[in-house]
Amino acid sequence: MNEISKPLSNLAAIDAAHHLHPFSDMGKLNAAGTRIIERAEGVFIYDSTGRKYLDAFAGLWCVNIGYGRREIADVVRRQMNELPYYNAFFGTTTPPATLLAQKIASHAGPGMNHVFFTNSGSEATDTWFRMARVYWKALGHPAKTKVIARRNGYHGSTVAGASLGGMKWMHEQGSLPIDGVAHIGQPYWYAEGGDLSPAEFGLKVARELNEKIDELGEENVAAFVAEPIQGAGGVIVPPETYWPEIARICKARDILLVSDEVICGFGRLGSWFGYQYFGVEPDFAPIAKGLSSGYLPIGGVVVSDRVAEVMLSEVGDFNHGFTYSGHPVCAAAALENLRIIEAEGLVERVRDDIGPYFSQGWKSLEDHELVGEAVNVGLMGGLQITADKATRRRFGKPDDVGITVRNHCLANGLVMRATGDRMLASPALTISRSEVDEIIETVRKGLDHLRDTREHF
Ligand code: PMP
Repeated sequence: MNEISKPLSNLAAIDAAHHLHPFSDMGKLNAAGTRIIERAEGVFIYDSTGRKYLDAFAGLWCVNIGYGRREIADVVRRQMNELPYYNAFFGTTTPPATLLAQKIASHAGPGMNHVFFTNSGSEATDTWFRMARVYWKALGHPAKTKVIARRNGYHGSTVAGASLGGMKWMHEQGSLPIDGVAHIGQPYWYAEGGDLSPAEFGLKVARELNEKIDELGEENVAAFVAEPIQGAGGVIVPPETYWPEIARICKARDILLVSDEVICGFGRLGSWFGYQYFGVEPDFAPIAKGLSSGYLPIGGVVVSDRVAEVMLSEVGDFNHGFTYSGHPVCAAAALENLRIIEAEGLVERVRDDIGPYFSQGWKSLEDHELVGEAVNVGLMGGLQITADKATRRRFGKPDDVGITVRNHCLANGLVMRATGDRMLASPALTISRSEVDEIIETVRKGLDHLRDTREHF
């Protein structure tokens, strides 16, 4: 009997004594007790009390092919036996790492042919952050070091990731952001658009990039980073005018464009990458999550030919990398994951079939008196709760509002996420129509519950 197959009736107590959880108030969590997830299949997870939940969040936006795919387990077992580890540092590689880079490039579009591997999305952020500065220095512009990001963006939890992210509550812990990072506004029309139309507002916030470049000096700015659709910030789908204007400004001002594809990549929007959905051509595309559907940790940065050519011809050693960059077992799992996405046509399924089906159901929630907007692209949905539809007024306690709906969903067997007063959905790309119906029905019940208790908020 190995350690994890021992009877573990006291696991919650052990957890409280020893395990510090990410993004958690550990005092509160220990008092409440952790939920222990023991197994999963398809879109369902099962806890240690035997309760079954529909996971409308695909773990943490990552289990794109659904749980329980034996094909991945088989490939991982084979790779473990063949070669459990070797690095890519000293003139070596392993077959899975090299083939995975080729496979990613085959979907990334013209001019995006190179991949640097990491273990996570946060490390991907640190990687392009350094590479962008190295690129400009190699071209004779050593002052081009500053990076512009957005308020309420999310790019990870390392020092560079948390700095670039626009979460004030993260900056407050650890004296962030670091020097050389600046933020502009976000394209969140519902909350910040005022009397402007979405199209006008999209242009206005995109043009803040121009103003920030003027303020910092074009000769000092290396890059601009954004998620195609903000994920952790609340699934904020930008107005149509936003991305074309951002891309135009980056080109005109000679600023590298970074499209953070950690959530949007690998089919979630019904395209291989979010930048393809919005029709822009970035210089870097950090990836993780759906790359392996979370079966093993792996991330990376897709690097454009423009940048790679300078790295190859001008830079010499790039003094950056991780012990597990291109880990052969993680890369083998990712390759098998991408094979499944291709073989099952999951990207096309999201674009043409289950995405539009989800959209119909999700949009139908807009008839609820507390729903200001229910937006989605593919299988990434955001739902704005409002106290008054006509004026787009927010409840006084937005966090409590979202948590109330989320907890009601959980009590009814549905895992959703809330960011303030927005409900987020991001199910596996394999989800069935009846499972989508279940999400919509349960969210509606959660909203009804909020309506019935609204005097508390
Ligand atoms: N970028 C984005 C857009 C993300 O959503 C995340 C994680 N939620 C990250 C980066 C960081 O990825 P990781 O948690 O794997 O470090």
